[in-house]
Amino acid sequence: MTRKWDVIIVGGGLAGYVAANYLIKTNRSILLIEKGKIVGGRARTTKMNDQCFNLGPHALYKKGKATAILEELDIKLNGSSPRLSGILMDNHIEYAAPFSPSTLFSTQLLNTKERMEWIKVLLKLMTITPEKLANLTFQQWVRQVTQSKMVESLLYTLGRLASYCHAPEKVSAKAILSCVKSAMGGVLYLDGGWQTMINQLHNRATHSGMEVWQHTHVKQIEPAQQKQFQLVLSNGKKILGEHVICTTGPHELNDILSKKMVFPQREFLSQITPIRGATLDIALTQLPNQNQLFAMDIKAPLYYSVHSAFARLSNHPRNAILHVFKYHHPDQHMDGAIIKKELEQFLDVLQPGWQEYVIFKRFLPHITVNQRLPQIGDEQKILDCQTEIPGLYIAGDWASPHSILAEAAITSGKQAAEKVILNEKRHNDGDYKSRLSAI
Ligand SMILES: Cc1cc2nc3c(=O)[nH]c(=O)nc-3n(C[C@H](O)[C@H](O)[C@H](O)COP(=O)(O)OP(=O)(O)OC[C@H]3O[C@@H](n4cnc5c(N)ncnc54)[C@H](O)[C@@H]3O)c2cc1C
Repeated sequence: MTRKWDVIIVGGGLAGYVAANYLIKTNRSILLIEKGKIVGGRARTTKMNDQCFNLGPHALYKKGKATAILEELDIKLNGSSPRLSGILMDNHIEYAAPFSPSTLFSTQLLNTKERMEWIKVLLKLMTITPEKLANLTFQQWVRQVTQSKMVESLLYTLGRLASYCHAPEKVSAKAILSCVKSAMGGVLYLDGGWQTMINQLHNRATHSGMEVWQHTHVKQIEPAQQKQFQLVLSNGKKILGEHVICTTGPHELNDILSKKMVFPQREFLSQITPIRGATLDIALTQLPNQNQLFAMDIKAPLYYSVHSAFARLSNHPRNAILHVFKYHHPDQHMDGAIIKKELEQFLDVLQPGWQEYVIFKRFLPHITVNQRLPQIGDEQKILDCQTEIPGLYIAGDWASPHSILAEAAITSGKQAAEKVILNEKRHNDGDYKSRLSAI
C-alpha cells in the first residue's frame, strides 16, 4: 500500500515549519520531508566548540510581520537588539555611523550640507510608502532624493544592511525600502541562534503528530489519481499527498515538478536569480578591541558585527562570536580565496591581532541569502503562494510578492497553510451541498 497524507510539506526551513504549525491545529495528517540531515534550512545554527553559529549574520526585524506570526504561534524570541552605534569606513578611515540621533550630529563623515540632506532623507524614510515605488529601481529612487554622492552611498549602505541586496540598479525600490523601513524598527539577535525558532516549531508540530522525514530528498512530484500527488523519494519510496506545500528554491521546484503538469510559472521560475554573499563566521576567546562591535564600509560592500555582544551564543562570557560578510553583486563572480583575504583584511583593521584568539572559523564564499533578487514586476508573477495546479502551493523566501528574507519565508508559510485550509473547506462545503441536493 502506498502511504497517503492530507498534506506533505517539502522542506524543513522556516517556511515549511511555519506552514506545519498552522496546519497541525486542523487535525490533518501531515508529513514534512527535509533533504538535509538536520532540519532548519538556512535558519539552522551549528554548535561548534560550544559556540553557536548561525549560517552567517542573522537578525530578525522586531516590528516585522514575521515576528508577529512567530508570536502568534507562541514561539519565544529571546535576545537583544544591537545598539545603533558603530562605525562606517570610508577610504580606510573610521567614522561614527550617522544612524543614531547623537552620531547624526557629531559624525565627521558628513559636512554641514550633507548632514542636512541626510536628515531630510531619514525623515522621508519614516513617512514613505514603499508600495507606491513599485515601478522604480532602488538606484532611480536614491537618485531622485539625493544630491550628494555621500548621501547616495549612505543610502546604498543602509539598503545592503537591511536587505542584503547589492545591485541598486536591478532591485525594486519597493522591496528594498520595505526592508529599510522594517529594519528602522530595530532588529533582534537571538540567544542560542535561529535554531531556537526551528526547534520550538519542530517540537510543537511533532508533538501534535506531524511526521518528519529527514535526510530524504523529494526527487519528483507527479500527478496521481483522484486529484492527488505522488512524490518520488530518494530512498525509492513513493507516497501520496492531497495537498503539497513546496518550500524548495524556484529552480529546484522546476526540476522536481513533473513535466506532465502544466505549470505556466516555469519560465519565470527559471529566470529568478538569488541574493548571494560570502560569510566569515568566527569565534574568538576574546575581542582584541572590546569597543568595536559593528562596522560597514560605505564603498566596498562589507559588513562586520559581533553578535555575541547582544545575544547569548556561548557559555563563556568573554568569548566573541562575530560575522564578517561581503554582499555579492549578481553579475560579479569572484574567486573564493580573494574574497576570504578581503574579509580577513577588513577584520584586521577592526580587530588587530584577532588571529591569536581564534577558537573556530568558517568561511562560506557563495552562500544564497535569499532565493530571489527582488525586481520590478515580480509581484505580478508570484501568485501569493497559490499555483495554477490545484492542491500545489509554494512558500519560501522567494515566494512572497511583498517581502524577502525570513519575513517572506514566514509570511508565505502561514499563507500557504491558510490556502490549504480554505480550499479544503470550499471543497468540503461543495461536497456537503451536492450531497444535500441529492437527498
Ligand atoms: C548568510 C545569511 C544571512 C541571512 N541573514 C538574514 C537576516 O539577517 N534576516 C533575515 O530575515 N533573513 C536572513 N537570511 C535569510 C533567511 O535565513 C532565509 O530567508 C530563511 O531562512 C529561508 O527559509 P526557507 O524556509 O524559505 O528556505 P530554507 O531555509 O532554504 O528551507 C528550505 C528547505 O528545503 C529543503 N529542500 C530543498 N529541496 C528539497 C527537496 N527536493 N526535498 C527535500 N527537502 C528539500 C532544504 O534542504 C531546506 O532545508 C540570511 C540567510 C543567509 C544564508
